Amino acid sequence: HDIGKNIVGVVLACNNYTVHDLGVMVPVEKIVQKIKEVDADIVGLSGLITPSLDEMVINAHTFTREGIDIPMLIGGATTSKAHTGVKIEPEYEGTVIHVPDASRVVGVCSRILNPDTRADSVREAREENARQRKRYERNRRQQTPVLSIEKAKSLAPQYDWKSVDIPVPEKIGLQVIDNLPLKKLVPYIDWSPFFWTWELKGIFPKILDHPKYGEEARKLHRDALALLEKMISENSVRPRAVYGFWPANTVDQRVDLFSDTERSDTLASFHFLRQQQRKRDKQNPTYYCCSDFIAPLDSGRIDFIGGFAVTSGVEIQAIARHHEKLHDDYTSILVKAIGDRIAEAFAEWLHAEARKQLGFGKTENLSKEDLIAEKYRGIRPAIGYPSVPDHTEKRTLFKLLEAEKHAGISLTENCAMNPAGSVSGLYFAHPESRYFRIGRIGEDQLDAYAKQKGAALEEMERWLAPVL
Ligand code: SAH
Repeated sequence: HDIGKNIVGVVLACNNYTVHDLGVMVPVEKIVQKIKEVDADIVGLSGLITPSLDEMVINAHTFTREGIDIPMLIGGATTSKAHTGVKIEPEYEGTVIHVPDASRVVGVCSRILNPDTRADSVREAREENARQRKRYERNRRQQTPVLSIEKAKSLAPQYDWKSVDIPVPEKIGLQVIDNLPLKKLVPYIDWSPFFWTWELKGIFPKILDHPKYGEEARKLHRDALALLEKMISENSVRPRAVYGFWPANTVDQRVDLFSDTERSDTLASFHFLRQQQRKRDKQNPTYYCCSDFIAPLDSGRIDFIGGFAVTSGVEIQAIARHHEKLHDDYTSILVKAIGDRIAEAFAEWLHAEARKQLGFGKTENLSKEDLIAEKYRGIRPAIGYPSVPDHTEKRTLFKLLEAEKHAGISLTENCAMNPAGSVSGLYFAHPESRYFRIGRIGEDQLDAYAKQKGAALEEMERWLAPVL
């Protein structure tokens, strides 16, 4: 996890620790080698997306096999005390500590390295991890049951497809945007998550007047705006996007995409999961799947699905590296955080554009706050997020979009997007389309899903571990 990891690095370096930053998506062999080479006192792992959780478990296992038992710190957006205690510690000989944010890292490191406090620190970590395992077991025993997938399907939302309003996009197929002035995106920036990067939890613009953090927030915001202004005047950043709409129909939980409305060729298929965890709603509990929002093939109607990928561009990475070389880590992190904001703003802008091309967005009149609150028709679920937790569907999307060729965005082996400041997802226009959380699924659906995708069960099991 790039930004979090960077901040940890800076914080430690400022406290006289020597930090060896190995970068992102680092193979375990390389980490092992470095630990041995520099005789490291502590190793830290940071994870941004869910597949990195499993990778950390593999790392822990490998470290143990290699005789490494130095204290290990776990951090980053997807990690948790529970995951650290339940999944990582059982694989590791040494002490494992979950560090929820960068501000804690110096305290944790000094306590575990100081001979006077080491024993206490180790014992506390072991106790905390044991507590997490106990809690996990207790919850597991009380877990809400999962319906059979057949039952869940029978409780899917029902639409009268004869009368559903299906908007027809102005254009079918790929569209590329590579010359949108950065200036156009500034009004679409949602600043709140920018402050979260710096562990300043609050909502923009209120955070600027916060009694405790206001001053720091104002400085960060000022510096960010100055950098953004520079990027605009020097024309040094080139956001790029590729998106499109395709005729589509649903068959069970699969959405087939066609070359044209005659369905001459099938271009690709997306596979979706359905909610299965029993709901407490007394009236009409509904078990959602994204495929519900697209007209079924046997409805006799043709529907459309959209896909998009946007990036703030490789230039951001280059600018960040430039500042790193000047030993200005603060500006480097700031640049990356701005890159993330630009990508998100671009996704917001492009979604508004997509709604216009679908017709119903032409009369929309929404403020930025309305956009952030998603007060528009339709959704743009991101793959790997709660409604579409299977990250591998990104491979289908990226192939369809030719994202690398048109926008310079590629997927790593773990299905993370590169460059980091990128956002992608699908467009659904159904008036009742909404975000939901898949939650836990049953073995029956896992089985059927793997078969439907033509993937090996063990492989799907690994990718879907977070919902199993
Ligand atoms: N304003 C935010 C960006 C929006 S975050 C920022 O600037 O950072 C909200 C986005 O996350 C949605 O547009 C959607 O793409 C994704 N998302 C939210 N909930 C989701 C869910 N349940 N399933 C899939 N994607 C989801």
